[in-house]
Amino acid sequence: AMASRKFFVGGNWKMNGDKKCLGELITSMNGAKVPANTEVVCGAPSIYLDFVRQKLDAKIGVAAQNCYKVAKGAFTGEISPAMIKDCGANWVILGHSERRHIFGESDELIGQKVAHALSEGLGVIACIGEKLDEREAGITDKVVFDQTKAIADNVKDWCKVVLAYEPVWAIGTGKTATPQQAQEVHEKLRCWLKTHVSEPVSQSTRIIYGGSVTGANCKDLACQPDVDGFLVGGASLKPEFLDIIQAKN
Ligand code: PGA
Repeated sequence: AMASRKFFVGGNWKMNGDKKCLGELITSMNGAKVPANTEVVCGAPSIYLDFVRQKLDAKIGVAAQNCYKVAKGAFTGEISPAMIKDCGANWVILGHSERRHIFGESDELIGQKVAHALSEGLGVIACIGEKLDEREAGITDKVVFDQTKAIADNVKDWCKVVLAYEPVWAIGTGKTATPQQAQEVHEKLRCWLKTHVSEPVSQSTRIIYGGSVTGANCKDLACQPDVDGFLVGGASLKPEFLDIIQAKN
């Protein structure tokens, strides 16, 4: 990746952990060296955002895993970007495949969430990615371009957006995209940004890969020119996350 794009390693803890085991994970992360060329952000369950932000060293950012599209009101069970910020977290993951495919979130809703989160000053890790049947049908490009457009239509300032390409067939399956497969899609996404947003945005926006990233495969992925980091699920809860933070070191 270009030197001007700071490598971005996100952890996505999903609905895992409790105060005891997350506390232990945080202790080990606080002891980690974060390379100067790398930014690290951990996505915590919303109920633990405050707990995590208070324990985790300031060198590591904290993300919520979802939020709602408006500031407040009668939306039982939802959380707002303002609440996320009030807990000291500066990021939110939006459009994760589990939100799209388990909870039925549409491109339109995700776009509205992106717009609101950015307007409130949060950084957004915006996720896209094709399902296995879509890849096999040869429509990967169309799927990820359509998802990207629904996000891009809601972004004015790209400096706080990280685009996460996460092929659904690679998430939690142990079936990582090959470095070539990841690079191919990342390059096309950067080209899409150049055509539909601007050349500077295409050059400055981090496009990160997610889907069964491990300590063992991260270096080969990280040396692809358009892979600017990772969103890590399962391995972000294990000691090997510390190796993944070093992928670009
Ligand atoms: P995984 O999850 O690393 O466990 O495949 C990635 C993600 O869902 O962001």
